[in-house]
Formats: sequence, structure tokens, C-alpha cells
Amino acid sequence: CGIVGYIGQNETQQILINGLQKLEYRGYDSAGIAIITEQGLEVTKAEGRLERLEAAGNEHPLVGTVGIGHTRWATHGKPSYINSHPHVDNSENFAVVHNGIIENYMQLKEQLISKGHQFNSETDTEVIVHLIAEHYNGDLVQAVQQTIKQLQGAFALGVLSSYEPDKLIAVRQASPLIVGVGSKAQYIGSDIPAILEHTRDIYILEDGEMAILTVDAVQIMSFAGEVISKEIERMEWD
Ligand code: GLU
Repeated sequence: CGIVGYIGQNETQQILINGLQKLEYRGYDSAGIAIITEQGLEVTKAEGRLERLEAAGNEHPLVGTVGIGHTRWATHGKPSYINSHPHVDNSENFAVVHNGIIENYMQLKEQLISKGHQFNSETDTEVIVHLIAEHYNGDLVQAVQQTIKQLQGAFALGVLSSYEPDKLIAVRQASPLIVGVGSKAQYIGSDIPAILEHTRDIYILEDGEMAILTVDAVQIMSFAGEVISKEIERMEWD
């Protein structure tokens, strides 16, 4: 029910957990984070309160400067550790957080299983990360674009890959997502409070828009890949 993400030059773990705390009001049953570390893509998750995620994070901190986080409100698959996000593909090189519902996930799941993908969770979300892995051919943006073409339903996404650790991809379709622009740091969030302590310069994504975040810049494009020039909005919140 909430998404956060960070790419910059600072330690990510606490930035993500703080952002998720700001989204607690939206409700959730579990939470998790994925960070690109020296070992590759690593995930920490916990069922229940964010305090449990924080405790798990303190026990085994993930060290890195790019990451995504999620609070889940289960729609497909019971609230559980396994079903909580982020979800990763079988090679553990891709991670996805998702808000919304993938209406055609059953059909996609059957196709992926017939291609040899092994599913770990009962969620609709997991098809997304398997599809990205299936489509990946050296270009993460392209793999995400090919994937979202196949999805029906509502999806705000945060996507990471250990193959392209200098990038965080955000996608918005019928679930809210915004991008915060900082200096040498960019953010994503489901809502303004999640990133307001870091920056007031915000892109409010529309349905059908995606964003490619790097440490230095944010590029907005359509799902088809056309670059969109969009105004940054300056939030005057107290
Ligand atoms: N449909 C997804 C799930 O059940 C995402 C739920 C959400 O928006 O938190 O895992």
C-alpha cells in the first residue's frame, strides 16, 4: 500500500524505513526493502509492524546507496513473510515493489511457469519481476517497458536490478506515485509526506508515465519510451 525508493550517495536503509513510516497511515500488513549491496541485490522483509522490519534491518544491515521499500496491503495471497514485497526473480538480479492489482496475473503466471520460472509467493505481483527477468537483454528500461505492456490492472512500481545498479525505475498506472528531485539524490514515494523531509521539488507522475532515476537526474517518459518534458512542482507544505 506504500512505495518508497532512493538513489543517491548516502546509506539507503534508514532513508527507506523512515519513508515507510510516513506512509503507515495508509495501512499495511507487512513491509520490506531491497538494496543493491556489494553482494548484489539483498532483501529484508517482515510480517506485521514496521518495528519488526527495523529490528530485522538492525540485525543484518544492508549497505548500499540505492533501494526500494514497500508496505503491503494484501489483495492476492495472505499477509505473510513470503508474500510481502519486494519480490525477486529466480536469479535474484531483479527486485520489484508494487501497489495495485494485476488482473491478468493468472494467465501470465501459467506462461512463465511453462517457461521454467519458479514462483515463491501467492501474489499477483510476482509475475512482474519474472517478466522483467524474462525480457532483460542488457537494457532494464526496455525490459520494464516490454513487461508493462503485458500487464492489465493497476500498478505503481519501483524496480531495481543488480545489473544496472546506477538506476531506479518508477512506473505509474492507476496507483499513485511521485518522484522527488534532490541534489545528487532522487526519491520515489506513494505520497508527498514520504519524501518531503528530503526535497520539495516533485514530479507528480500521471497514468502512463514512468521515470528513470539516476544519482544526477530524473527522466520522465511514456510507456512507449517517448521522453516527456514535465514541470517540477514545488511543494509548499508545513
Ligand atoms: N496486489 C499486491 C499484493 O497483494 C500489492 C498489494 C499492495 O498494493 O500493497 O501483494
